[in-house]
Amino acid sequence: MNIESVIKNNLCTGCGACISEDENKQAKMIWDENGFLVPQLGVNSTQEKMISVCPFAPEQKNEDELGELFLKDRTENYNSKLGYYTNLYAGYAKQFRETSSSGGIATYVFKRLLEEKIVDHLFIVKEKNGEYSYQFFSNFQDITKISKTRYVPVTMVELFEKISTTDGKVAVSGVACFVKAIRLKQYYYPELKEKIPFVVGIICGGLKSKYYTDFLAQSAGCFSDYQNAEYRVKNKESFALDYKFSCVEKNTNKIHMVEMKTLGDMWGTGLFKSNACDFCDDVVTELADISLGDAWIDPYDKSGLGNSIVITRSLLADKIIKSGLVECDLVLDELLESKVLQSQQGSFNHRHNGLKVRVELASSNEKLFPPKRNKFLIDQGFLLNQIQVLRAKTRGNSLSFWKATQNVSLFNKRMKSSLVKLKIYTLINRYLTKYSTKKGVKK
Ligand SMILES: Cc1cc2nc3c(=O)[nH]c(=O)nc-3n(C[C@H](O)[C@H](O)[C@H](O)COP(=O)(O)OP(=O)(O)OC[C@H]3O[C@@H](n4cnc5c(N)ncnc54)[C@H](O)[C@@H]3O)c2cc1C
Repeated sequence: MNIESVIKNNLCTGCGACISEDENKQAKMIWDENGFLVPQLGVNSTQEKMISVCPFAPEQKNEDELGELFLKDRTENYNSKLGYYTNLYAGYAKQFRETSSSGGIATYVFKRLLEEKIVDHLFIVKEKNGEYSYQFFSNFQDITKISKTRYVPVTMVELFEKISTTDGKVAVSGVACFVKAIRLKQYYYPELKEKIPFVVGIICGGLKSKYYTDFLAQSAGCFSDYQNAEYRVKNKESFALDYKFSCVEKNTNKIHMVEMKTLGDMWGTGLFKSNACDFCDDVVTELADISLGDAWIDPYDKSGLGNSIVITRSLLADKIIKSGLVECDLVLDELLESKVLQSQQGSFNHRHNGLKVRVELASSNEKLFPPKRNKFLIDQGFLLNQIQVLRAKTRGNSLSFWKATQNVSLFNKRMKSSLVKLKIYTLINRYLTKYSTKKGVKK
């Protein structure tokens, strides 16, 4: 597999690390037809070099191997699904909870890193002219400008282009494959370990095409150009999963909103997701210094203001969290491994338990896929395998149907049969799981 086949087989998530390895500087990021950012290669692009830092490359180091190199000596614990870690928590940052996506821990950690001069800059995803992209940022007094999750394709090209000429150190936020790309760059260029001393991992259930936001905007009633999409408008009077999407119509400045719970399951169905994410087995950003996600577990999911799952993976990360507790900036409980696993159960079911059948499916269709960790290649029953097949179909359909219709009503009509089928299979599976658990029978 070379970098061209990674792109052709829809295995690129757009991190952009490879661009910096093109010695002839011909490669650049472009939008592909499915609404994802991918590299466009030049005739003389140095593909062999480029593939060395690709998180989805064949013969690439896996997360266990990189974890051993980067984290093993700095942590006290290891769990085969959570990776190397120091401590596990759930809760929030008092100052940033309301204006953040989950519990505001990412914004808090970044503020501390700047305030204490552990780094001089952040490289994070932030609004610019109504849209979102990775940007350098240094002003901790304005820190809330960096908050909130943005479900749009982004790329780190600028980081790798500028890092060696940037004065000072940089902390970065990234989803699992982006963090892996950073670790691969640091592996080949050890001086980057000092330049990027801290990485905040954003736990990710899959990267969405830019069509996802178009779909949400139209679902909210906005049918012309829009800006300032907000993916998590919280309802503090309600529970954590009760949030809205909003955007601003450019012509009229009208704010359009839609309750996410009225749109059905946007994550378990794989709608608008990148194919590559179906071949990622890193659920909790195993290679970051700290991993942050949503605490979708009782009692934390009862609060509409949101709570974070926190996994510290370095002494520095744990020190920041512990001093936040001492200074009463943070409200956190220590968690057991089982609780953290439970908080991402859906993602573990899909990304670990459902991986083998997807790998076999890709193999039988002569599609390429990156090598996967053997420990996650698990046999499942017929029904669960069928769910994976239906999910893969739904994912693919969502991208091609949006391209063909670009209209929410037509799209919903065309998606209906695959979504209904998937829902029926999922409900049967849920029922059987409940029944067999009650009876103490293993399916
Ligand atoms: C594509 C995607 C999928 C996700 N799926 C899950 C999931 O399945 N389960 C789960 O528990 N959590 C998931 N999250 C993470 C969750 O939405 C929150 O981002 C996380 O809990 C941090 O919350 P916070 O309140 O601490 O962050 P905040 O304080 O709100 O700060 C958010 C930080 O994330 C950065 N950021 C925003 N968008 C991106 C992006 N696209 N890429 C990299 N950095 C970004 C911002 O710059 C900011 O630093 C996902 C996030 C993304 C981007």
